[in-house]
Amino acid sequence: MLLRASPLPPLEARILLTHVLGWRQTQLITRADEALDSAHVERYRTLEARRVAGEPVAQLVGAREFFGLEFEVTPHVLIPRPETELLVETALTAMENVSRPRVLDLGTGTGAIAVAIASMRPDAQVSALDRSAEALAVARRNAVRLLDAKRPGGAVTFTQSDWYDSLDAALRFNVIVSNPPYIASGDSHLSQGDLRHEPRGALTDEADGLSAIRAIVAGAPARLAANGVLWMEHGYDQAEAVRALLTAQGFADVRSERDLAGIERISGGRLSG
Ligand code: GLN
Repeated sequence: MLLRASPLPPLEARILLTHVLGWRQTQLITRADEALDSAHVERYRTLEARRVAGEPVAQLVGAREFFGLEFEVTPHVLIPRPETELLVETALTAMENVSRPRVLDLGTGTGAIAVAIASMRPDAQVSALDRSAEALAVARRNAVRLLDAKRPGGAVTFTQSDWYDSLDAALRFNVIVSNPPYIASGDSHLSQGDLRHEPRGALTDEADGLSAIRAIVAGAPARLAANGVLWMEHGYDQAEAVRALLTAQGFADVRSERDLAGIERISGGRLSG
């Protein structure tokens, strides 16, 4: 009856209630007749009110699923989005024929991209960086909780760095991936929905939306091994501009991939020679 009376979309109400009760979704059906104790009802109502006021569900329950893994989420990190799974899938395809691939995730946030890749490729040596110490703490906890401590590629290496600035200059990677802040500073989406509660630095470059991507593309050739690839997520209308940046930087096989909504959502290329 708590659920039926809720002003929230049914799925959101169910996520909040199962979180409070410590139940699985199916138990909302199998245990539907049970009376809930008042502390649980109170706790649910508090979360429901916070959700109605705009806080993201992922922050209220402290978690979001990505690539079949449950990531810890805090207000210090971008909430993993389903379309970013395309970036992981494309990176995995790019390293199919490379043994012990070296992978770098720029601006890792929750660590979702780095950890998903590391979980699918136990032999990969994965490095991840972020300029935010708070984000790195979340990413580290996710890596420890979600990855096999004995994976052949070893633990994911985390570095606090503004893009490549503090990264060991001798490192060369087979694959560089990033979901950088790509929303232009004046974009109205920044003041709508979940985005209002996510770290602004993870969403916008405070410029035209392409400045982080420019920095990532410009620094990539010096960090890529021969035939290494760079793939980045970007905004719905940025694919052509990102391809142009990659081509101008000397990348070959430059192309974009469409997400499930049919939008060119990621672009990448290969460093030949
Ligand atoms: N995909 C996010 C959104 O538009 C933005 C993420 C980002 O800037 N990297 O909601």
